[in-house]
Amino acid sequence: MYKYSEIKTVHLEISSKCNAACPMCLRTICGGSINPQLPLEEINLSQAKKIFTPHFLKQLNRIYLCGNYGDPATAKDLLEIFEYFKSHNPSLRLDLFTNGSLRSTQFWHTLGKSINSINFSIDGLADTNHIYRRNTSFDKIMDNCEAFIQAGGKAIWDFIVFAHNEHQVEEARSLSKKMGFHKFVVKKTGRFFSNTLSTGKDEQVVFDKNQNIEYTLKKPLNEKYQNTSLQKEKALVEKYGSLINYLDKTPISCRVEKEKSLYISAQGHVFPCCWTANQLYPWYFKPKSSPIWGLLDKSGGIEGISAFHDSVEHIVNGSFFQDILPESWNCSSIKNGKLKACAKTCGQEFNPFAAQFEANETRT
Ligand code: SF4
Ligand code: SF4
Repeated sequence: MYKYSEIKTVHLEISSKCNAACPMCLRTICGGSINPQLPLEEINLSQAKKIFTPHFLKQLNRIYLCGNYGDPATAKDLLEIFEYFKSHNPSLRLDLFTNGSLRSTQFWHTLGKSINSINFSIDGLADTNHIYRRNTSFDKIMDNCEAFIQAGGKAIWDFIVFAHNEHQVEEARSLSKKMGFHKFVVKKTGRFFSNTLSTGKDEQVVFDKNQNIEYTLKKPLNEKYQNTSLQKEKALVEKYGSLINYLDKTPISCRVEKEKSLYISAQGHVFPCCWTANQLYPWYFKPKSSPIWGLLDKSGGIEGISAFHDSVEHIVNGSFFQDILPESWNCSSIKNGKLKACAKTCGQEFNPFAAQFEANETRT
């Protein structure tokens, strides 16, 4: 694994709070009640100063705010933290990903003058966006996007395609052009996949707060909007006998090791990437029983990767990053300690994450 001095990019989950309840996001149980294991926290200015020392900031090219469990716009100290970052590295690139349905237009106007780009996740139009982005308001999102663009901000529209919105892709693309978005990205979600069963799935149930089924989300019918990696499942099963056999056997080529990027969560935990960090609080495992907890136990527990208690330098150059995690890639199978998240994301023949962004063009 890379060493601390080589890191150029940080993916920061500044908050695990969110106004929305997207059914394929682990912050809720299928869009219903909040994941009971998830600590709802955000990084404040003094914690940001502790994690991002002036020395660390100076070596970075980019910090982007996205995350596994929360929307960065919920963080109260966000603007002050950006100012602090820029005060130590004026050329640092700052990007943010959001559902856009929170805060005031004044907030987005201010960001339009101070950030490199924002990806707004808008999966449809007024009559469909809320089907996946539950609890959001399309009108509010449009007002916020407009305020950001009017202030000179570079806005990107990310559109996840489902059966219920596939007929609106071109209409949304035209609207994005008219409003002055820099780019429109068609996302072919890789989340029609059961991580517990290691198989693809055609539907996703959506729960209410009492875990009754409200409706289901379905894959788009048009093949051009489907995830090509998930389409490969049948061929992989024929070749390896099952997808789990493929995951057991595939060599791992760590993508963040090449990119020299690092992930920091809203709880201050330092991981190589969001995919490993995402294993901490899945609601479908018993608390602290997913395989990542076992790896952390071997390197001194979760406190050993807390940037609230230790320096990022010490954590990255320590045993979890340098020995325990890379050694897990060489285990003979998932059962014997190879992380499924690593085999799925960074294996050789199946990568639903990367396939989300295939065949998108850039508008300049
Ligand atoms: S907007 Fe993002 S963080 Fe919030 S529920 Fe949806 S996917 Fe999760
Ligand atoms: S999932 Fe594993 S192999 Fe892939 S980037 Fe993260 S740590 Fe590296």
